[in-house]
Amino acid sequence: MNREETIILGAGLAGLSAAYHLKSGYALFEKDNEIGGMARSIHKDGYIFDYDGHLLHFRNKYTFNLASELLNGNMAPHKRNSWVYSKGIFTRYPFQANFYGLPNSVVKDCLMGLIKARLPLIQPSPHRGEGKGEGNFENWIIKTFGEGIANHFMLPYNRKFWTIEPKELTCEWLDGFVPVPDLEDTVTGAISDNTKPYGYNSRFWYPVKGGISELAKGFSERIRNIHVNKKAVTIDQHRKEVVFADATIKKFKNMVTTMPLPELSNLLVDMPLDVRRAFSMLRWTSIFVLNIGIKSDNLTEKHWVYYPEENVIFYRIGFPTSFSMDVAPERKISIYAEIAYSDTKKIDKNEAISKAMSDLKRCGIISDESSVEICLPMDIKYGYALYDSNRKHAVQVIKDYLEKFGIYTIGRYGSWRYMSMEDVILDGKKIAESLKFKV
Ligand SMILES: Cc1cc2nc3c(=O)[nH]c(=O)nc-3n(C[C@H](O)[C@H](O)[C@H](O)COP(=O)(O)OP(=O)(O)OC[C@H]3O[C@@H](n4cnc5c(N)ncnc54)[C@H](O)[C@@H]3O)c2cc1C
Repeated sequence: MNREETIILGAGLAGLSAAYHLKSGYALFEKDNEIGGMARSIHKDGYIFDYDGHLLHFRNKYTFNLASELLNGNMAPHKRNSWVYSKGIFTRYPFQANFYGLPNSVVKDCLMGLIKARLPLIQPSPHRGEGKGEGNFENWIIKTFGEGIANHFMLPYNRKFWTIEPKELTCEWLDGFVPVPDLEDTVTGAISDNTKPYGYNSRFWYPVKGGISELAKGFSERIRNIHVNKKAVTIDQHRKEVVFADATIKKFKNMVTTMPLPELSNLLVDMPLDVRRAFSMLRWTSIFVLNIGIKSDNLTEKHWVYYPEENVIFYRIGFPTSFSMDVAPERKISIYAEIAYSDTKKIDKNEAISKAMSDLKRCGIISDESSVEICLPMDIKYGYALYDSNRKHAVQVIKDYLEKFGIYTIGRYGSWRYMSMEDVILDGKKIAESLKFKV
């Protein structure tokens, strides 16, 4: 048994970033045979499939510079070209600023709903920046956008995406993820093709070559002491020891864990009842992703499309070949189709594949199934943490308990938050800085 100052569990971007910023005094252990976690890519038959569409959005100059350095120039900017498909028509994303082209009755519903929602309030965009406060998501949608936009897009789409009723969700996660256009912009988008960009992801970056796994590769070239095929199976927080599947044991002073909280709860020993109860309250959605390669000369310029209607099984599809030509062989394109499920909304995966194929055909994305060369399903067990009314308190109880033992749980699934790649890189940096300060 030997001792490391800091043990990091998980070589996804959060763990890699923690190691990169710590620089020394750590050992990083990953259960799988490769690094990258959710930000990995699979090479198959000339295609490069990310686990799911993974695009880089930057709100922070530091992460932009870091990603540029890690990717060594292998990163191109893109102006988002995303759409919504409903009533058999493509409209620009975000729906709440673009219903031009939809039937007149829908446009009228959306405009009247918005006007009624905004009329009592004198300011043109009263809810801009809101969403961090209390209250449920359904109420926020109706108060912010009105009944028309709620019924024609926001509610059906979010039901499909979160797999539960929007009224069961809090608004803590919004933080700019749902754009709130001005009334004037919405009117412009109702009567004309409005190309004005909205939201946090109106510009994004993507590796020119190699898929999103290039980012993790960039980290791994700059850090040492990474051990793959090392699955932690027991964490004795009282003795400050971790046991791995190969029966090796490591002692630690501090631990940074990035594994999903429900998995972590199975590894810890002798927890008090309130902490066990907090772990048991966590809920999440899973994503069944179909990565599809097709023979086609028709390279679309669309980046991705949202599908709010219930009769289409996927909530979104994307076209990786529109971000990088390197991810598919010549005269072929790749598509990902995302299907959400959870304990409350189960799916049969074989049926989901057949339904997705027939929906792709019905929606005009593929001409016939014989053009499909490859369909690689990927099951992402932990997709999105569900922001129900228990989440915040439960996560706080867990974090407070673990920190007493020098265990810090970070990253998208360790913090149990809606976090992007940029967010988890910053989370890794933050914990590294605070641990260096503690030493
Ligand atoms: C469907 C989907 C689409 C997304 N799209 C985008 C996007 O377009 N842009 C964007 O910025 N972000 C996107 N994200 C978010 C992004 O993937 C995450 O924020 C980020 O990759 C999470 O990194 P992480 O290190 O926190 O977690 P992970 O990547 O999950 O890393 C955790 C690591 O811990 C390892 N581990 C687990 N258990 C153990 C154990 N017992 N012992 C040792 N190791 C263990 C795992 O194998 C894994 O490698 C998306 C996420 C999802 C689910």
